[in-house]
Amino acid sequence: DLPLAGLDPEISDAIDAELRRQQSTLEMIASENFAPAAVMQAQGSVLTNKYAEGYPGRRYYGGCEHVDVVEQLAIDRVKALFGAEAANVQPHSGAQANAAAMFALLDPGDTILGLDLAHGGHLTHGMRINFSGKLYDVVPYHVRESDLRVDMAEVERLAREHRPRMIVAGWSAYPRHLDFAEFRRIADLVGAYLMVDMAHFAGLVAAGLHPNPVPYADVVTTTTHKTLGGPRGGVILSRADLAKKINSAVFPGQQGGPLEHVIAAKAVAFKVAASDAFRERQQRGLDGARTLAARLSADDVRRAGISVLTGGTDVHLVLVDLRDSELDGQQAEDQLHRIGITVNRNAVPFDPRPPMVSSGLRIGTPALATRGFDLAAFAEVADIIAGALAAPMSDDRAAELRGRVDNLAGKFPLYPHLTRANGA
Ligand code: PLP
Repeated sequence: DLPLAGLDPEISDAIDAELRRQQSTLEMIASENFAPAAVMQAQGSVLTNKYAEGYPGRRYYGGCEHVDVVEQLAIDRVKALFGAEAANVQPHSGAQANAAAMFALLDPGDTILGLDLAHGGHLTHGMRINFSGKLYDVVPYHVRESDLRVDMAEVERLAREHRPRMIVAGWSAYPRHLDFAEFRRIADLVGAYLMVDMAHFAGLVAAGLHPNPVPYADVVTTTTHKTLGGPRGGVILSRADLAKKINSAVFPGQQGGPLEHVIAAKAVAFKVAASDAFRERQQRGLDGARTLAARLSADDVRRAGISVLTGGTDVHLVLVDLRDSELDGQQAEDQLHRIGITVNRNAVPFDPRPPMVSSGLRIGTPALATRGFDLAAFAEVADIIAGALAAPMSDDRAAELRGRVDNLAGKFPLYPHLTRANGA
């Protein structure tokens, strides 16, 4: 029974190196976060050994008395957190949650409306080679070219014309609130289900800092690892009368044995998400994103042809528009990587550049907020990013900016008690 470093030094070293990377750089990928040590402890527990096909109290395996406690706590906590009538905490990921929710409510060949991938939607909302695009007849809706907000008039027009069985509201790259009441009205007009995928903004909803889709939607899906800050995984919330269909779509429809170790970690994350400290952290993330949007709208950045999509943000991310800049998305991502800031390039709506290069950057604040960043620290990182993007970067300039990044990383230590792999 050797510890990891003794049994498998190659994997152990790679995990150590990843820990050091997370500690020494500034993580600004909008979909990432840092799970608390307690979440990792639950996820790394003996629960990984247990088969538990079925649901609490109705399992197909013996010895489930303790995992039943775990899974029921996760269900009860997430229902309370979002005010949902029913919850399924078994989906292995956000994509699995969406697949199961669609599998529960749709038949192959049914029509769905989803936000176009190129306009901020997710793969599972109808991308051509995703299961959603292959199984269903997808009608994409878009943002308006004039203000880059979701075009609800188009949603209504497309819904009336195509009579979808489901409308999907949600996004992976969009900096504003969606109008859930309006989506509900349009869904009711044509007798469609409304599914909201709140994967990105679920943490803000839990903190009461974003409108809650649960009262409007038939089904709400989410990941648990983005703003929610838990382990990688998915959840499906629904009305009580849909719970049976959804449960059987997850198991046996889509999955076999649930990952009870991950479900335990989800339960811990839901407990954390109900706390005042979590709300305060989400507020810092929002304030940080606004600070970043303001800095990236200043004159020096504007002169370089760089702006912020929709002129600001209501959420935890900022979308940088490089369509008029000499820097493309790939170059901008590399420029920030060079000084120790991790972001991802992203297509912007009406992007003239190909998707692998793109004309946008998606920059998020949740991971740094978890690290403890306050307004002054967010102002500093915003200024570093502006400095890296607004002017060509000499080696001296890169070294200066990297020094400022190191300074912030040192000031807000991450996992200070973890020194070796799996030290949680
Ligand atoms: N839904 C949305 C809106 C997302 O942004 C993502 C992830 O990027 C997912 C679903 C999929 O989650 P996962 O990567 O866990 O499958």
